[in-house]
Order: sequence, then structure tokens, then C-alpha cells
Amino acid sequence: MTGQGGDRLVILGSKGGPAIRPGGPSPTASLLEMGGHRIVVDCGLGVSRGVVEAGVALASIELVFVTHLHSDHVLELGPLLHTAWTSGLKSPVIVYGPEGTQAVWNGFLASLAYDIDIRILDEGRPDIRRLVEIREYGEGLVHSAPDLTVTALRVDHPPVTECFALKFKSSMQTIVFSSDTTFFKPLSEFALAADVLVHEAMHPLGVDRLTARTGNGTRLKAHLLASHTMAADVGRIAAFAEVDHLVLNHLVPADDPLITEADWVAEIRSTWQGPLTIGRDGLVINLSRAEEPDMSEQRKSA
Ligand SMILES: [Zn+2]
Ligand SMILES: [Zn+2]
Repeated sequence: MTGQGGDRLVILGSKGGPAIRPGGPSPTASLLEMGGHRIVVDCGLGVSRGVVEAGVALASIELVFVTHLHSDHVLELGPLLHTAWTSGLKSPVIVYGPEGTQAVWNGFLASLAYDIDIRILDEGRPDIRRLVEIREYGEGLVHSAPDLTVTALRVDHPPVTECFALKFKSSMQTIVFSSDTTFFKPLSEFALAADVLVHEAMHPLGVDRLTARTGNGTRLKAHLLASHTMAADVGRIAAFAEVDHLVLNHLVPADDPLITEADWVAEIRSTWQGPLTIGRDGLVINLSRAEEPDMSEQRKSA
């Protein structure tokens, strides 16, 4: 259960893709505190540090959702759970992920068997294998608990087929995460009238600069266009869905100094005039006043 302070969304990692650079943002992860539940959505590299920096004890995490098995969303799943365990985890954690998530977890447990077994013997810890339950999900109802319903919509992120947008609904709020997807109209129906839509986004100028820098630029650009969404199209989805607040996340590029927050805003404003926040690591959105992000709680990434 969450403590005092109200429901909130914290962007822990705001960049798309698995690479990290000096002083730059971390891959995708978010913390959601709503309906009395404490939830992690996606587990990119840095998620454990991000949860702690958000002022939340790792051992208090109750639910984890992985939208798909690209490494910028799942690389730190095992280390997050293991660090929660060595931080005193005693209550069960349920992890929802697409088909293949159980194998990811089993592989992690196998790789850490020495450490896990020795800590159980030496430190008297409960067996992490019994504390963590993996549930593989598909489209539709995923999780139902007091004041929380979670549903999933399969999105269009080729060549990945098991990739899901997630909708978290309490009596007070509806929060939707797009996951990774190309422009996908059904997402606007899924997110209809949501309080917050957290959507991935690419900046066209940034993508041109990014692909010009790499050796296989043409192929990279084709991949990006087929499986991710340009910012102007993100605005279209938000407008179709008539959401209260659009949050851009999974930014591509996220660490190009020539693509500023003003550039992102300018792209979106061609198609969306409503409340808008550009994601960055440590950004806090107070869900009790979802239409107005609390600027005092926002923390600039380094
Ligand atoms: Zn991604
Ligand atoms: Zn992906």
C-alpha cells in the first residue's frame, strides 16, 4: 500500500532504447502509486535506483508490469526484484509480463543461484523464488484488485508481437501507457478520456540526426518508422482520445543536446493543444491534480 502524499506517477527512465551516456537519461521505467497500490511499469536499466530516488522502499513494491521483452523495458527486472529482496522484501510481488517473462525470470534466478542460496542459508532470508510470482498476460483484463483494474491492448511494434499498452484504472484516475508502438489508432479508443496518457515519441529532426550518425542509418530509420510514433502522431492519438493530460516518454532521441524540450513541444503543438508534459528522469506528476503537473516536485535529470 502507498503511504501518505497522494497518488502520483514518477517517470524513472525517460529514454527509448537501451544505451546510456554520461549525464544522460535512463531507459524506460515508471513508478505508479494509485488506488493504494505501489506499481512499477517497465524495468529498463536504472529502475532500482529510480525507485529509491523517488523515495520509495524497494521492499514495498507490490506489482510489476512489463509491457514487452525489449531490453530497454526488461533488463533490470531481475536485479530490481533481487535488490528488493536484499532490502527486506517479505510480502509477495506479482510480476505481469508477456509470454517469455517466466523464462527471463528463471534465467535470472539460475544466474544468481549461488548468491540466492547462500543468503537464504547465511542470512535467514525467505526464498525469493516463493516471494515472486510471474504471471504471463495477453490482451484484455490483466489484474483486478481493490480499487485497481489493469487491462491490456496489443499494440503495433514489429517485429515484436507480444507488446501491450496498459490501462490502470482506480475510482479516481485512469492512466494509460502506450508501450512501444507505431501510430496505432485503436490506442485512442483504449485511452478514451484517460486522465493521463503516457506515450512514446520520436522527434523527426532528432531521428534524422540519429540515423545520420550511425553506420546503418537507412535500416535504422526504417525500423524506427515501422515500430515507433512520431511526436505529431502522438498528438493525434491524444486528440482522438480526448485525454486530460499527455506525457511524452521513451523519447528518441532523449540525449541529443540540439533537440530541446521546446522542440518536442513545438512538434506536438501541431496536433495537440491540451495539457502536455515532456518526460524526463525523476519527473513527478501528482495524480490528484493530473491536469497540472506539480512543478515543485519536478527534478531535472543531470
Ligand atoms: Zn523501447
Ligand atoms: Zn520496444
